[in-house]
Amino acid sequence: MKTMNKIVIKVGTSSLIQGNALPSNRYLSELAQQIVQLQNQGLQPILVSSGAVATGRAILKLSTDSRSSPLKQTLASIGQVKIMQVWSELFASFGFQVGQLLLTKENFSAHNDQLLRETLDCLLQHRIIPIINENDTAATHETGVGDNDNLAALVAKSIGADTLILLTDQEGLYTADPRHNPEAKLISHIPQINAKIYTFAADSTGSIGTGGMATKIKAAKIASRSKTQTIIASSRYPNVLLALLAGKPIGTLISEESNTHMNVKNQRGIN
Ligand code: GLU
Repeated sequence: MKTMNKIVIKVGTSSLIQGNALPSNRYLSELAQQIVQLQNQGLQPILVSSGAVATGRAILKLSTDSRSSPLKQTLASIGQVKIMQVWSELFASFGFQVGQLLLTKENFSAHNDQLLRETLDCLLQHRIIPIINENDTAATHETGVGDNDNLAALVAKSIGADTLILLTDQEGLYTADPRHNPEAKLISHIPQINAKIYTFAADSTGSIGTGGMATKIKAAKIASRSKTQTIIASSRYPNVLLALLAGKPIGTLISEESNTHMNVKNQRGIN
């Protein structure tokens, strides 16, 4: 059975805002509560939180496309403060401090990766909850990772996480986009990512955040190469993190590469 110790949890924009304009306090509170429970059970959770650009857009009451420079940078700078304020207050209400890391591709270079790993380790040793986002205000096309699924996978690789959890507005990876195809079936386990898996993921994109299933599968591939298993699961599943910790077979599990020979049943245990 896979032991869960260091866990990177990524939550996307559409999950954070839950159909509203601003992040849902209630949803963030539920998530913070679960993360605190993981901490209290001796695990080391690291949160990758999107939502900065969408939050900035809501604060400025913009409805136009905000993906071009410098508006995206502007919205991220406004929204990041707000979303961190919410996270910080919520975790403080459970007795925990948070530490913010705004990263770009450069933080994962051979030269800088060790500093990132040691900083995250230091935060975890002090029982601080690290909260990570891309540094959208400073990142350029060249220096940006581009999406937080990949960012979360790079973080998981850097710190040697056992598990990467990608929370999203779908139940997991389906054989087709379930929003358009009623025949689509949920894939509960992917022992190894192959061309067919990329095809299943290709047509499924989220409506608000940057990522869709394609970026999640790419992220899972990065993670699997560094012995991290990935679980894509619904952010709406009640107490999803605790359910996963208890070994509930929800979402899509993507095994790390070295374990592809193990049987599916054994793969789902993460306690
Ligand atoms: N970093 C972006 C934000 O916080 C989101 C990127 C993504 O959706 O992957 O708004």
